[in-house]
Amino acid sequence: MLKDIFDRKLNEECGVFGVFNLKEATMLTYYGIHSLQHRGQEGAGIAAVIDGKIKVEKGEGLVTEVFSPESLTKIESKMAIGHVRYSTAGGGGIENVQPIFVRCHQGDFAIVHNGNIVNANELKIELESEGSIFSTTSDTEILGHLIQKEKGSFEERIKKALLRLEGAFSFMILTKDTLYVMRDKNGFRPLSLGKLGEGYIVSSETSAFDNIGAEYIRDIKPGEILKISKNGLEESNYTEKVNNRMCAMEYIYFSRPDSQVEGLNVHQCRKKCGEILAREALVDADIVIGVPDSSLSSAMGFAEYSKIPYEMGLIKNRYIGRTFIKPSQEQRERGVKMKLSVLKSVISNKRVILVDDSIVRGTTSKYIVKLLKDAGAKEVHMRIASPPIISPCFYGVDTSTYNELISAKLTVEEVRKEIGATSLAFLSMDGLEEAIGKKLCTACFTGKYPTEIFSMDKMIKNRRK
Ligand code: AMP
Ligand code: SF4
Repeated sequence: MLKDIFDRKLNEECGVFGVFNLKEATMLTYYGIHSLQHRGQEGAGIAAVIDGKIKVEKGEGLVTEVFSPESLTKIESKMAIGHVRYSTAGGGGIENVQPIFVRCHQGDFAIVHNGNIVNANELKIELESEGSIFSTTSDTEILGHLIQKEKGSFEERIKKALLRLEGAFSFMILTKDTLYVMRDKNGFRPLSLGKLGEGYIVSSETSAFDNIGAEYIRDIKPGEILKISKNGLEESNYTEKVNNRMCAMEYIYFSRPDSQVEGLNVHQCRKKCGEILAREALVDADIVIGVPDSSLSSAMGFAEYSKIPYEMGLIKNRYIGRTFIKPSQEQRERGVKMKLSVLKSVISNKRVILVDDSIVRGTTSKYIVKLLKDAGAKEVHMRIASPPIISPCFYGVDTSTYNELISAKLTVEEVRKEIGATSLAFLSMDGLEEAIGKKLCTACFTGKYPTEIFSMDKMIKNRRK
């Protein structure tokens, strides 16, 4: 049992996108989820209101593999929601690809979700004992069952259901005439509202607005629910007990550099992390390089502060999914090999500062250090633009399991030896807080979770003693 918990995969890094009152809503949703593809490459789906009924189409794979733009242009719909899904071994399968469709005598609806419900097991047991039958293993379906059980108007039922959920969620619910948009009380996952012509757009990341020519209006607030219908936009809160704790990893790794997460540009935040890292852990070297793509901003910041030339030492093969996507360690290692090539003429005979955004299992760092040494680097100084990850994420980011986290078990010096670097340093917690400049969830770096994590909580604490 304990082993299960420490090997549990918690990974629902997803992207959600919604359109209300725009011609070609399905096509826009296709473009929207396409620009959120980095948030999940294992499944994609769109639910749209067609002739007064909700239709869902979804499949495993990339957005371009699941949908053909030609077929979408023929669909006449003014309201749609879409989703891209990330999952590793065990969590996949077509039934868990979203949107989740809920058939209900008071009116069908579809749900998309980014995040992770931490009291999912408790709620599932309760709901099943009261007769609910689940058709997926995803925690998203829980919201559907809770809504069905509550009383009142549809909006009241959603609000009551949301109060039962603990953890991270950015949800959208599409009915035949209304789009509901909501964010958990800690605001772990980003969710923004935009406008395009007479219609509204909702997206996990603002970069998707730019891609379709929409204008950013604002972020959905923690604990807020928006109702978008023919009456326009109605704003309310389902709880006043809010506690702003945006996920630090959204800035460090997950979001696109051209996105604004709660008003802060991701590229600028990463650059600042790199600058502070250089201030904290400078070393004499000839060049600074970054691991493409998510570390390039912090490498630029490091180079700018240190005045050591920024160079292009590694090239990424764009057509390979993220390393983590591969369920086994062997596949992951092969994935890293396929993903990166080294520029020998840049690296050869140089003392290199290699900047990466994070170390999770250590697979990437170990491989790249070797790659650089094989290409003739005299020294490889690894600099990580975030603190060591010592605890798993329970809020929807796959920072791996406790047993696989290299920094949970080894000291910085032991990690350095393991990855074969000449030196190794991480950004400090103070440095991270200074770079982002606002309250964040940093639980994977500190082990201090902003919410209770239920059955897991006690077991993890016990295990640590
Ligand atoms: P690892 O090889 O296990 O140490 O993973 C570190 C690499 O994975 C870094 O290059 C990061 O850019 C990337 N990374 C960090 N967090 C995640 C995540 N949650 N999902 C996928 N990749 C990640
Ligand atoms: Fe983000 Fe880490 Fe908090 Fe998870 S634990 S929400 S990855 S900061």
